[in-house]
Amino acid sequence: MFDFFRSVKGKRAKDVGPEGLDPQTQHQQEREQFQEVLQSFNASRIEERLKVLDIFLSVEEHLTLSGLEGIIREKRPELLDREFLKETMEMFCQFGFAQKQVFETQEPVYEHHHLGMHHDHFICTRCGKIQEFANQNLERLQHEIARQFQFHPLQHKMEIYGLCAACMAQREPALSLQYAANGERVRIVTILGGREVQARLGDMGLAVGACLEIVSNHSSGPLIVANKGARLAINAGLAQKIMVSHVCRHGEES
Ligand SMILES: [Zn+2]
Ligand SMILES: [Zn+2]
Ligand SMILES: [Zn+2]
Repeated sequence: MFDFFRSVKGKRAKDVGPEGLDPQTQHQQEREQFQEVLQSFNASRIEERLKVLDIFLSVEEHLTLSGLEGIIREKRPELLDREFLKETMEMFCQFGFAQKQVFETQEPVYEHHHLGMHHDHFICTRCGKIQEFANQNLERLQHEIARQFQFHPLQHKMEIYGLCAACMAQREPALSLQYAANGERVRIVTILGGREVQARLGDMGLAVGACLEIVSNHSSGPLIVANKGARLAINAGLAQKIMVSHVCRHGEES
């Protein structure tokens, strides 16, 4: 499980949306609105929930429940009660003050929900870092495409999985195939091992220079790669001997 503090570094992308209020005024308004909503149906523990909201709104990042718990433990230990916090976070979501994002392979995260604002996400599959982005052209294009399909879009999520800049920078120029990431396109640069290994790979149609896409690389099960439209299963021992580099860009011919 990744540490949430690691995932929250970096500047928040400016959301697509109306030129807004400054965050403080906005948060103040949201607090008042939340209080009104809670009072409207005589919710329990309103004062405590407002304190949780204050803490949640003071963090401009994606928070896991455990992450929130960590902050509460420091700032408001009297509110430390996982079930209460969970229930309160679910209320924030239900009433439109927070959004719960469930990214693949990660603990769910909560983020602010500012009315009329929208952004999308990059998720690093290696370190778990989440980066936000917003792009007007992309949003327009999505609506344009929906129109072509006579589809009336209500909401969408764009999640782009991959490796963040820091994780890419930490990589060796060539790595063993077993460490290549799902979805990655790589080229074979060296084959370690003798003639036997070369021959086995040769039988599969693989040699130095071949371009592969990693279809599935999980700790359990075989490594599946695609080469020229065929899926190949490569066992761990063999994968270890295949050195690859990340070269192929999407759209580039192999
Ligand atoms: Zn979007
Ligand atoms: Zn990363
Ligand atoms: Zn976000």
